[in-house]
Amino acid sequence: MTKKLKKRLRRILCGLVLFAAALVLEGTVGERYPNGVLLAFLAAFFVSGGDVLKKAAMNIIRGQVFDENFLMTIATVGAFLVGEYPEGAAVMLFYQVGEWFQAYAVNQSRKSIRELMDIRPDSAIVLRDAGPVRVTPEEVRPGERIVVKPGERIPLDGVIEKGTTALDMMALTGESLPREVGEGDDVISGSVNVSGVIEIRVTKEFGESTVSKILELVENAGSRKSESEHFISRFARVYTPTVVVLAALLAVLPPLLVGGNWSTWIYRALSFLVVSCPCALVISIPLSFFGGLGGASKSGILIKGSNYLESLSKAEIVVMDKTGTLTKGNFAVGRIAAVTSKERLLELTAYAESGSNHPISLSLRQAYEERSGKKIDKSRITQMEDMAGFGVSAVIDGQQVIAGNFRHMQQNGICCEPAQEVGTVVYAACDGSYLGYLVIADEIRADAAEAVRKLYAAGVRDVVMLTGDREETAQAVARELGISHVYAQLLPGDKVDHMEALMQKKSAAGRLIFVGDGMNDAPVLARSDIGIAMGGLGSDAAIEAADVVIMTDEPSKIAKAIAISRRTLSIVKQNTIFAIGVKILILILAACGMASMWAAVFGDVGVAVIAILNAMRALNVKGQEG
Ligand code: ADP
Ligand code: MG
Repeated sequence: MTKKLKKRLRRILCGLVLFAAALVLEGTVGERYPNGVLLAFLAAFFVSGGDVLKKAAMNIIRGQVFDENFLMTIATVGAFLVGEYPEGAAVMLFYQVGEWFQAYAVNQSRKSIRELMDIRPDSAIVLRDAGPVRVTPEEVRPGERIVVKPGERIPLDGVIEKGTTALDMMALTGESLPREVGEGDDVISGSVNVSGVIEIRVTKEFGESTVSKILELVENAGSRKSESEHFISRFARVYTPTVVVLAALLAVLPPLLVGGNWSTWIYRALSFLVVSCPCALVISIPLSFFGGLGGASKSGILIKGSNYLESLSKAEIVVMDKTGTLTKGNFAVGRIAAVTSKERLLELTAYAESGSNHPISLSLRQAYEERSGKKIDKSRITQMEDMAGFGVSAVIDGQQVIAGNFRHMQQNGICCEPAQEVGTVVYAACDGSYLGYLVIADEIRADAAEAVRKLYAAGVRDVVMLTGDREETAQAVARELGISHVYAQLLPGDKVDHMEALMQKKSAAGRLIFVGDGMNDAPVLARSDIGIAMGGLGSDAAIEAADVVIMTDEPSKIAKAIAISRRTLSIVKQNTIFAIGVKILILILAACGMASMWAAVFGDVGVAVIAILNAMRALNVKGQEG
């Protein structure tokens, strides 16, 4: 319990004691000392509600009249004025008890969400000349070596230099099976060392590390408000003054028109005021979104704001990039058809590709290094250029080498025949003369077909695949995955055009999602309603460019993200309907004189607490399938 909550609790208890004393006083000597009784109730009133009165006064000075403090102040002061002393003091006291419970519940929920997302490492043991020292992660520089013992969180990104262990990535990816790692493997901050002692060479400073990036993102997520949250603030702005006006009419009109008893109608109007605070909505809705964001991040889905969480639930068209998203982006080199030497073709292609981060480039470099046993010698390369959708060009040992697709060869005036092969073909030429081609094949991700099926099951109208790859390869992948709409051989600019056309085709309420690997997808990611990047863990570019980041390489998590968003929104809807419903009911009862001010306070607080508890369910996303 926080200090503030404790202090409030003490004040409430004092108020309770004073209130009990006042009741006793009224029951025993009330007849003889009416002023003494009034003073006793006023004491209980001021002790328990002093801060409410103060806040109300402050807000009036600031011009924000219609808040709950103001409403409670008028309602209770009004009760004193019509002679209902016990009522006035009790309602204030009870209101404070309720407020306290609300604050406590909100506090607990926030805490449990925070704990769940708490991947922040406390310290790092760094190996310095004087021996191992424990420092804060911020103090460790790239290049230094750190030791991580079993049970500790990896504090910084780096490469294992010594030791083997299993890493628990649960908090980052939602994956419960630990990953085995050993010397030379990359490790990511935020994961937990399970079994062995390891020594890590740090590659990034703390501010640049994965854990910092993720924390920053999670902390900022709350500031992007959803449409529902905006709606509630607008609603509160209209609702409260409306109820106040109704209360005023209720107090004045019936006695004037039908000649009722003034104090009866004023009392009813005061009860009316008590109900008019939209607390339950104002508190529970942001909390539900917060819970949904927390639950998603527990499953390895980072959503950058409540607005995106809300949009996900309206997904109508899902557009997916092929390479690296539906496929592994891990190309195995198959046939090498060289005009002269296969070795030279592979070597020059790998060198030309060494400046690009494209999955094709990474795979070709790896294939060269594995087959030749040599590393790429960067000093042989003097110039490098990456042409998205075509290929690459570079100057190697003073020779102009180009590698890429058939279109790339044509653009450069290279004379060659299109290869009749299954798979992706990379052609290469050196100083204008054709060297030959390599056939590379990508593998479809294990859960890609399931992902497409789940998207359709979740009510997505259309799943579309866009790719820069050849028509044949694209069709083969699409057939295997059950995707009917495929657009192939696209340049990055064409992808944007197709996106725009698809945007026109969707309904006004629906949303278009683009899923890519964050690699040269930035323009399309930006153009879509929601940009999702896959395989975010370890890729800064993806984390930055997208609205939603899937930490693992599982496309099926897209359906899961949609399921989480739908559930969060249904909780929001339940809370909205429930809270407004109960309030309207109490308002009607109060107007008819069937609800006392007590019932009104109870209704208000009770609804808020139930709504908060319901909001907490958004956090629990276990076993939710798309
Ligand atoms: P995708 O849409 O499948 O992600 P890209 O737009 O990245 O594909 O690339 C489209 C095509 O351009 C690839 O299939 C390949 O033929 C060619 N290409 C792009 N970059 C390279 C590269 N670095 N090396 C060789 N070919 C490339
Ligand atoms: Mg791509």
